[in-house]
Amino acid sequence: MTDTAAEHIAVTNFRRYLRVKTVHPEPDYVGAEALLREFGRDLGLEAQVHNVVPGKPIVILTWRGTHGKSLKSLVLNSHIDVVPVFREFWTQDPFAANKVNGRIYARGAQDMKCVGIQYLEAIRVLKLQRGYMPKRDIHVMFVPDEEIGGHDGMEKFIHTPEWTALNAGLVLDEGLGNPENAYKVYHGERAPWWIKVSVKGETGHGSQFIENTPGPKLQRVMAKFLAFRDEQEAQLKAGVHADGRPFSLGDVTTVNLTMLSGGVQWNVIPNQLDMGFDIRISPRMPLAKFRALLDAWCASEEGVSYEFIQLTPCNFVTPLDNNPWWHALQATAKARDVALDPTVFPAATDSRYVRRARVPALGISPMRNTPVLLHCHDEYLDESMFLEGLDFYTALLPRLDEVVDPTAEDPKLWTVEC
Ligand SMILES: [Zn+2]
Repeated sequence: MTDTAAEHIAVTNFRRYLRVKTVHPEPDYVGAEALLREFGRDLGLEAQVHNVVPGKPIVILTWRGTHGKSLKSLVLNSHIDVVPVFREFWTQDPFAANKVNGRIYARGAQDMKCVGIQYLEAIRVLKLQRGYMPKRDIHVMFVPDEEIGGHDGMEKFIHTPEWTALNAGLVLDEGLGNPENAYKVYHGERAPWWIKVSVKGETGHGSQFIENTPGPKLQRVMAKFLAFRDEQEAQLKAGVHADGRPFSLGDVTTVNLTMLSGGVQWNVIPNQLDMGFDIRISPRMPLAKFRALLDAWCASEEGVSYEFIQLTPCNFVTPLDNNPWWHALQATAKARDVALDPTVFPAATDSRYVRRARVPALGISPMRNTPVLLHCHDEYLDESMFLEGLDFYTALLPRLDEVVDPTAEDPKLWTVEC
């Protein structure tokens, strides 16, 4: 379809990686590991592969720094896996990585094989072309299973001695594309809680006015949840940060009624009705404070209890004020005349596990003026934007490497519990 002879080697390698079908439910991790090892060999990087769960490799390609363990390392993380496709809705083969009018079409083009290759190709430029010698160890890490929650990938890896041995000071991870003219930078995430609220009460014949039945109580408790939802939605529309940026989804807590169940027969008042909520708690709302609200709403009626279907027990953010890593990122963007838009991720990424391990993480996928196509049909990335991102990392890595600030060597300072 296209001639790769005149193509930038970074683009060729990007397309090769896109052609490995690391798509759920049966990602080709064997094929991906082999290709990543090859890329590592080409660049003269040390390779280690950890199968924390058999068949689910964590591939780490390391560029050794001159200062060894005396300085914290940089970990450049990306996930290997991609989400499934609905082939009938694609105009291109999602695993051919065809280039059409400068657009590279493939599942994973934005989420996030672009970033994994940009890290490696930035090292090619710095190491092989410019002879740069990093002070810090730089680990390019490729993890499995992020798209299905990261439970057999990053979540387990942060509890291993191999993770500790990385001596991480900062992890770069994924962000999102942005239709606006700025790179989004994510320094925190919302905490997902799924809860089931059970309302118990008197039962009886459907023809009577019986006191204390579940239906009216459920209605009153539900009203409390939904009033909070309205309040948060209003904040999203009106809220403004101190620096003038309007609020985004990550700045507010969403509460959505997603399940309703109960009843046995049309003429019988049931003794229990249940409702389920999908709640995403913003770092602006302390988890303990939201828990107290939940307790109060449920305690407002007799016979109401709740249980967690999914509980995120803690949530950490990477603070940006006075953060030397963030300053290095800002300086890089400024020198390249690129605007940054720091914000909170509306959903979840592997960064939550990293921050929980008390290492700061910043999520950035350098794509601006680009429609957000992750998980969409016809996912593509413009070749020119891919190469811009490569240049960005080529400029960023030395700036991060050369951060001189004692606080950068103490990662715990750059994760704050909310
Ligand atoms: Zn992703």
